Amino acid sequence: MTELVSEVSGDVAVDVTDLHKSFGSVEVLRGIDLRVNRGEVVCIIGPSGSGKSTLLRCVNLLEEPNSGTVMVNGVALTDPDVDIDAARSRIGMVFQSFNLFSHLNVLNNLTIAQRKVLGRGRAEATETALANLARVGLSGRENALPNELSGGQQQRVAIARALSMDPDVMLFDEPTSALDPELVGDVLGVMRQLADEGMTMLVVTHEMQFAREVADNVLFMDAGTVVEEGPPDQVIGAPRHERTRTFLARVLNPTHQHTSGT
Ligand code: ADP
Ligand code: MG
Repeated sequence: MTELVSEVSGDVAVDVTDLHKSFGSVEVLRGIDLRVNRGEVVCIIGPSGSGKSTLLRCVNLLEEPNSGTVMVNGVALTDPDVDIDAARSRIGMVFQSFNLFSHLNVLNNLTIAQRKVLGRGRAEATETALANLARVGLSGRENALPNELSGGQQQRVAIARALSMDPDVMLFDEPTSALDPELVGDVLGVMRQLADEGMTMLVVTHEMQFAREVADNVLFMDAGTVVEEGPPDQVIGAPRHERTRTFLARVLNPTHQHTSGT
């Protein structure tokens, strides 16, 4: 721990303040404020291109913000002196596209970062991996290659891999968007279980029922800003803004309108 750790951070796990991010002349994030308390689930919803993935990528500094601050567990990731690799190792990230190593079996997918980043020995890394594989309901699949598993199983492996790093917070970027509909439920079930266990989670999703049932707070983003936020019963159940209503009508009735893929 360094002097960059704030003693006053208390229950706040993720604290984003006035975050701006541009690609060239295009401002994709236009002053985002976001707070996730420890043990809370915050869901981010919003149309394709609104900046949701960019925001998540700024939270673990896969993208460098132009201005604003990102604090995770009291560490200011945006401080130039911070040990970004150490900080990032405590932030789990799950992508839409799984991003497993296709040439490594499940066990090695789960142990490689534990060994290389955390310096764990083989026995400890294996024990942690098997425990997390059980946690996502995939005991016995440790020798499988990713392409021998269904998309839903691969995504659960990706979640187990992130959990094996003992993260303080888990970031999910549309974790079920690439899955066949019948496989979505298993992945959401694992995420719901993590939430019940008290994991701090920031989740970009189009699964409105999941957001309604699991989220403590929901943010609706459009065009790089947070248009509205609050408890799910308010933002999803009784949205105040026209843009939120229009978006929800599209997501909740996808057969009546075209939706875009991301
Ligand atoms: P969302 O996840 O809400 O669909 P994104 O954060 O992926 O939105 O993208 C927001 C905007 O930023 C889009 O217009 C996208 O084209 C643009 N964008 C994202 N990443 C890059 C990049 N690396 N370079 C240039 N433009 C980008
Ligand atoms: Mg996205």
